[in-house]
Formats: sequence, C-alpha cells, structure tokens
Amino acid sequence: MSGVLIDSCEVVATMDDAGTEIVGGSILMEDGRITWVGAGRLPADGTQVVDGRGSVALPGLVNTHHHLYQTLTRVRAQDQGLFGWLTELYPVWAGVDAEWERAAAGIALAEMALSGCSTTTDHHYVFPEGAEGLIEAEIDTAQQIGLRFHPCRGSMDLGASSGGLPPDEVVQDADTILDHTQAMVRRYHDPQPGAMLRIAVAPCSPFSATEPLMRDSASLARALGVRLHTHIAETVDEERFCQERFGLRPLELLDEWGWLGPDVWLAHCVHLSDKDIQRLAESGTGVAWCPTSNLRLGSGIARARALLDETAAVGLGVDGSASNDAGNMLAEVRQAMLVSRAGGDPKALSAREALRVATRGGAACLGRDDIGVLEPGKRADVALFSVEGLSWAGAEADPVAAVVHCSPSRVRHLFVEGRPVIETGHLVNADEDAIAREGRRVGHRIASGR
Ligand SMILES: [Zn+2]
Repeated sequence: MSGVLIDSCEVVATMDDAGTEIVGGSILMEDGRITWVGAGRLPADGTQVVDGRGSVALPGLVNTHHHLYQTLTRVRAQDQGLFGWLTELYPVWAGVDAEWERAAAGIALAEMALSGCSTTTDHHYVFPEGAEGLIEAEIDTAQQIGLRFHPCRGSMDLGASSGGLPPDEVVQDADTILDHTQAMVRRYHDPQPGAMLRIAVAPCSPFSATEPLMRDSASLARALGVRLHTHIAETVDEERFCQERFGLRPLELLDEWGWLGPDVWLAHCVHLSDKDIQRLAESGTGVAWCPTSNLRLGSGIARARALLDETAAVGLGVDGSASNDAGNMLAEVRQAMLVSRAGGDPKALSAREALRVATRGGAACLGRDDIGVLEPGKRADVALFSVEGLSWAGAEADPVAAVVHCSPSRVRHLFVEGRPVIETGHLVNADEDAIAREGRRVGHRIASGR
C-alpha cells in the first residue's frame, strides 16, 4: 500500500495517554489514517517521504471557537468590553452577505491552517433578512483549503425590543432558525468516523436567545444526534443580566435549561464558582477557553487550571477576529500558557499541558476520539513545526517546549486526513495573496459602509 512517511522528526510528540515523545520519530500515513508511529522505519516501495528533520510533529491543533465572518471587522471598538463592543458591531454585522462570508472564511481558515490547526469550528449567528448562502460559503471555503470543519448554526431571537442586547434587525424568529438548522444538519452533517464536516446547534447567548429557543435547540440537537454550543459566563455584565432576568447565575441557568452534558461545549466560562466547575466536570461538558479574546475585551481570566484539575474537557479557541485581531492557534497556545501564570504560579500551565489542551482537549470538546493524537488508527492530521532558524536557535534543550515558548510562527507542513494542506509554510490548495486581496477589497467595502 502506498502512503506518506514523515521521516526523522526532531521529536514526535504524540499526545497519547502516556505523553509519549519519540526523538527522531517518524509517522506513516495511509488512506487518511496514521498506520504507524515510531523510529527507524525504512519506507516501502511507492511511499512518499517527507523530511521531518528540524521539525517537531504534533497532532493538528483543534480550534473550538471562532466566528469567521468577524475577520473583516478587526480593530473595531478597540477599548470596549463585551456589551459595548457588541453594541457597536451588531449594526456593522447586519450587512453580512455571502460575499463577505466567503472572503472572511478564506482569510480565517487560511490563518488557521498556517498556524497548524487541522480542525476548526465556526459559530455563525448573524443571519440578516435576505442574506442567503452564508454557511454554504464557509463550508465551500473549508473544503477548498482542506480543513476539517465543524460549523455551528448559531442563532439569535431575543432582540432589543424584547429586552435582549442585539438590535431587532439581526434576530430571527425561532421557527425560521430551527427549520434552517435542521436543514443544514440534514444536508451537511457527517456522523461517521473520520468526518471532514459536522454541524452543531448553537444559539448565541442568554442575552440574545430566548429560553424557548435555548430549550428547543437542545431538543433538536439531541433528536438529530449533533452537538450543542453557546457562549456562557463570559463577563460580569452577562452575569448581572442573568441574575436580573432569571435570578440565576449563567451556568445555573444553562443547567436549568438542560444544557449541561457530554454533547455540549461552551465558549468562555470565565466567571465560574467552584460549584460551577464541579458541575461542568461531572456532567462531561466541554469548555472552549479563549484567553486572548477574554484579555482583549477585559472579560477576565478563565479558571482553566481549576477546570483541568477537576478533569473537565478544556479546549482552546481563538474566538472571532473582532475580539482577537489575530487568528493564530499556536499563538493562542502560548497565550494560554502565559496567562495561566499571571496569578503568580509559574507551574500553573506547562507548554506540554497547553499543547494537550489544544489537541486532545479540543478533540474532546468536539466529541471526537479520532483526532488530537498521533497513534495508529487515528486520522492523519499532523502539524510539523520548525525548530530551525532564528526563533529557536538556542532552544535545543527541549524542542517540544520551544514550539510554545519561542516566537509563534507558521507551521512548516500540515496534513489533514493524510493530505497536504500546508507545504513549507504555504497553502497547497489556495492562493494566500489572492485571499488577502479579496479580504482587503471586501473589507474596504464594509469599512466604507456600502
Ligand atoms: Zn465567540
């Protein structure tokens, strides 16, 4: 059988249960899977060989929270907290259309791939009247670039006139939302192992979605056998909103609505009590930790260490590029490690723990046991990060830690399902310059209000 042998890596960091790292390790990929990991294998006839020397091999990173469309509204509301930032941006986002979505997805997904991310989610929740083909545009783009993709059909039905935060022009009625969500799942969701495309159900937040929509979304997701996602416990403002409207704290509210369980992962979870953390862990609910976005909006620092200590499933998310003006998964890994130490404990999160969150943890959030680890039988999603060159010279003592501690840079090679997506730091299936030009063209259109 022909395959691809990634040969003689500086280290293969498998992220398996034992944390196995193989110096001089190699990985054989055949038919979309990893079929062998070890050291000292000679390639069989017909095997393509990729030179792994000078690179650390990791499982492709998994991004558990993003809003691709926001990529074209970077550097807005620069000094606002979540509610002020949203209030400034909702009217801009009300103009989203398929051209915007496609251009934004091109940039965001290219950035994901170039930072070593092989699987990403999206959470699209703005569906203005008459805008068609938004989810379709991003799925097309993900397929073109070659990434594994979990788009979430987001939604908002609680407009300002009913006490919500978003203006009425960007909310939809619940029937329209649930019908469209079901149609997207039926059309695109692939439940099979190795799936390149899965859909999730994702009403936006307690201040933009009504209780009936939250409850009906959970029922729909469970009836269809797909996962549930939302934003929760992001800011103090949100906590106040939930207390005033429902008399409960955000996580208590989700619990009340039947929203905690092993089929759910939640973005942010910054403001949690000890009891909330225990509830998340015991219910098997995943957390998409978004450290840069939480810092940018001044939301706070999530208690990731406490969540990990309770063995909750914690993954990493870059969040949308309007609240993290970069879309770089490796930079997010570094940010996670550093911000964890901000409280004064240099042992709060190690480089390897941060990488495990970004691989195994992300896979767990998305309910996938077929990615996030380099072992035979798993899908062949492999990121090769260079440890050669200026940024890593002097870091020879620990090449795996060097990937996180030193300056974040482009992935050297990225394979998804055994297929090359990035080669020597460049997209294989798309033209980066053309994507950037198109993004700039549509970005000018948006900035000029047309
Ligand atoms: Zn978000």
